[in-house]
Amino acid sequence: MDAQEFRRLGYQLVDWIADYREGLERLPVMSPAQPGEIRAAFPDHPPLHGGRVAQALTALERDVLPGITHWNHPSFFAYFPSNTSYASILGDLAASGLGAQGMSWQTSPAATEVEEVVMDWLRQMVGLSPAFTGVIHDTASTATFTALLCARERASEYAQNGEGLQSGEAPLVVYATDQGHSSIEKAALLAGFGRSFLRLIPTDDDHAIRVDLLRAAIEKDLEIGLRPCALVACVGTTGTTAVDSVAALADLAEAHGMWLHVDAALAGTAMVLPECRWMWDGVERADSVVFNPHKWMGVGFDLSAYYVRDPQHLIRVMSTNPSYLRTAQDGQVTNFRDWHIQLGRRFRALKLWFYLMDVGVEGLQARLRRDLDNAQWLKAQVDAAPDWERLAPVPLQTVCLRHLKPGLDAAAHAAHNLDIARRVNESGRAYLTPSVLKGTQMLRVSIGAEPTERRHVEALWRALVEAAQAE
Ligand code: PLP
Repeated sequence: MDAQEFRRLGYQLVDWIADYREGLERLPVMSPAQPGEIRAAFPDHPPLHGGRVAQALTALERDVLPGITHWNHPSFFAYFPSNTSYASILGDLAASGLGAQGMSWQTSPAATEVEEVVMDWLRQMVGLSPAFTGVIHDTASTATFTALLCARERASEYAQNGEGLQSGEAPLVVYATDQGHSSIEKAALLAGFGRSFLRLIPTDDDHAIRVDLLRAAIEKDLEIGLRPCALVACVGTTGTTAVDSVAALADLAEAHGMWLHVDAALAGTAMVLPECRWMWDGVERADSVVFNPHKWMGVGFDLSAYYVRDPQHLIRVMSTNPSYLRTAQDGQVTNFRDWHIQLGRRFRALKLWFYLMDVGVEGLQARLRRDLDNAQWLKAQVDAAPDWERLAPVPLQTVCLRHLKPGLDAAAHAAHNLDIARRVNESGRAYLTPSVLKGTQMLRVSIGAEPTERRHVEALWRALVEAAQAE
């Protein structure tokens, strides 16, 4: 492909994306594709001769689009929102166009310095103090894994440089709420703590960690000679957006010398609103914090913001220093390759920069407030409807509900609510996630796709009510 063809196809693709976005509302939210259907449209063998990108663009619409579940659809209410704004698409395109690899400052100084700038902007936006320094990770899962590695190495005095976890006398223990995201469990297991030393603590009626039970678990572990190592506070759990008390957890972390990591994957974005910051009161006492601009904010996947108090410790845990990576500026600059697991890194900061330049802080605040209002509206409908039950508080943009039908036992209620989700999702009118909360089957409505207005939430509520009546 030469530059001229790149221009021609590039303009065509940008038009296609804009048409796609403008027409999203007419598409079924959840892909109706059956397993294997998309693959069947592709030849079994690679093209022998090239020059067929124009054909790929045609096939994109014909063969790929039917297999897309539309995360940027205004009636996307599943999982957590993952918005990719137009500006962020352009930033990503610029990053691909530059093709820069920013593993070291020298390999593209701008990749490092723009990231330093925008991560500092983001820090200010969510109200974190300058005691925190940020780095872009791909996902919260990786950031939480990194945090637990840092916790392990601090507690073991850098045992990785010797016999690793095998050398410790007292096994190290990790604590988190049993409502935490599966990435916490995965991180603890991958970091070598072992399932026997991961304590998932039960939660209260609002689904936040029971601090009394946490304290008791720590005391019991100490009694039997174990060593409390890390504590993960969840601000905005995946199931219900429950909020752990970061301040109470910080007290315990400080008392026992534990690493405190705050997982605010979704909720971190809400901290752009000063009225939401109570949710992570105490965050200043954390060792590390992660949140995902690739969720509710509007920066396309993947871009996770990881903030640490002690970058030197992070670097000490993460860095390797082979001769071929050394550069003349090493002592004076940031080499982000030492701030995470992988070596190479894309210029992700560009999509965050473009996004912030497009919306500005006030624009983002207005959209987040719109989504919070929409969630409160839905909450009010559920609360006013005698045959519907709300299963959790609504501090953010997620509403957990279920339909109640006289005469049904627990199992039949679960099946009935799963049927409601299936009907709504298969109708293509909206897409939501059925999920189980402490044994109760629920419908989880997560509001916050960029184009979602009140009318879309009203339409969802109508679709739910109709699906609940259908037999
Ligand atoms: N933490 C929480 C609270 C989440 O809800 C999620 C994903 O939804 C994650 C972590 C993992 O996010 P990622 O996909 O960025 O790894």
